[in-house]
Amino acid sequence: MNFDESPEEAAYRAKVRTWIAANAPDLSVLSPTEQRQWHPRHKEVARLWQTAKADAGYACISWPKAWGGADGTAIEEAVFGQEETRAGMQFNYFRTGLDMLLPALMEHNKDEASLARVPPAVRGEEIWCQLFSEPASGSDSAGVRCAAVRDPGSGSGAGGDDWVINGQKVWNSGAQIADYGMLVARTNPDVPKHKGLTVFWLDMKTPGVEVRPIRMMSGDNELNEVFLTDVRLPDSQRVGEEGGGWKVIITTLMNERASLGSGTGLNWRDILDLARETPSFDGPALDDPAFREWLADLYVDAEAIRLLSFRTLTSLSKGATPGPEGSAGKLLWSNLAQTLTDKALDILDHQGLLDDPDEAAMNGAFQHRFLWAPGLRLGGGTDEIMKNIIAERVLGLPGDIRVDKTVPFREIPTGR
Ligand SMILES: Cc1cc2nc3c(=O)[nH]c(=O)nc-3n(C[C@H](O)[C@H](O)[C@H](O)COP(=O)(O)OP(=O)(O)OC[C@H]3O[C@@H](n4cnc5c(N)ncnc54)[C@H](O)[C@@H]3O)c2cc1C
Repeated sequence: MNFDESPEEAAYRAKVRTWIAANAPDLSVLSPTEQRQWHPRHKEVARLWQTAKADAGYACISWPKAWGGADGTAIEEAVFGQEETRAGMQFNYFRTGLDMLLPALMEHNKDEASLARVPPAVRGEEIWCQLFSEPASGSDSAGVRCAAVRDPGSGSGAGGDDWVINGQKVWNSGAQIADYGMLVARTNPDVPKHKGLTVFWLDMKTPGVEVRPIRMMSGDNELNEVFLTDVRLPDSQRVGEEGGGWKVIITTLMNERASLGSGTGLNWRDILDLARETPSFDGPALDDPAFREWLADLYVDAEAIRLLSFRTLTSLSKGATPGPEGSAGKLLWSNLAQTLTDKALDILDHQGLLDDPDEAAMNGAFQHRFLWAPGLRLGGGTDEIMKNIIAERVLGLPGDIRVDKTVPFREIPTGR
């Protein structure tokens, strides 16, 4: 691994930095409230930015051109992402689809109509959500109870070509604005839990799909419950083998952790700016030696995460799939995000109670993030699950106890 940029990479960075400076949308035309994620005007700006990137060959850079990408390298894609972050162009609406779900769709579903969904997503015209978690199946991703059964009366295939799905999903980010979703269902309860799962993609407007938003303590409506009642899907919307859903789930979760583990959002530069502007005892908080010492520690932690993400990048550029290092990045970053916002609110003192974007320092960015950051330690896998993965797959420690691994799913006690 070499952290120095090659001359080609440095030239590419200079080129994209110039392009971003010339083309990035001016967010200052939005009011502070409109600048928050999930606000319709913010989403519209994000969509236009995604289209502009796709037109210029900067969206999904490492994907094939036929699927809306640019036939570039993983390193170029990462360089562009870093420059985008540097310019404050961080939009979450497309991450679930482009970083996690569509790579799995492209890998596991060869149906032409299904793959036709990829280019519009790259252009920001269609948004995707992940329908994996259920009330009793979060950390235990294989514990899914949502059921898909073949409709014997449909099509010409044995047992029918359509599937009928019933069940409930929960904590689905962006489902309230999503056009499409990727869903895990149990198609065979007579085999052990990991073996009877199948993944499908679906149009969120399919009859029988009901999205109920969950109000978060940050005030956002990012999370949802999704109820599925007699939802009918053709077999062509299956992703991967029937009963082979676990493989698709693993592809998706590994991509999710690698994506989350590279770290986004407020960082040490933002708290540096805040400390420069916020008065403390004898001057700005930045002059306080205790704060400066803490900032140095924070900087070291942030650099560790950045370098760890280079390790992922190096292996991806050599054709590997994301591994357990993504879990380490995710664990470190979500903890850091919480420490950062805790400290920011300490510095702001009683001003930290102001969450109104029109009144608060830096439009209340830290207050908003403070209320959102705890969720980050759960979404994409909890701290405990990340530690289990690191213990087993990196350190080679004995595995977690799994008493239901070989039992047919139907026979696993439910407590009812
Ligand atoms: C902000 C946010 C966004 C999310 N987005 C999505 C999304 O888009 N799509 C989606 O499908 N899901 C999403 N989720 C759901 C998320 O994946 C789950 O909440 C998470 O996996 C935890 O599952 P759970 O809530 O069922 O908790 P549980 O699995 O019930 O865990 C409860 C507690 O027990 C601990 N625990 C469980 N098993 C073990 C074990 N074996 N060893 C040690 N400790 C254990 C957990 O770490 C946790 O502390 C999101 C969640 C959040 C908070």
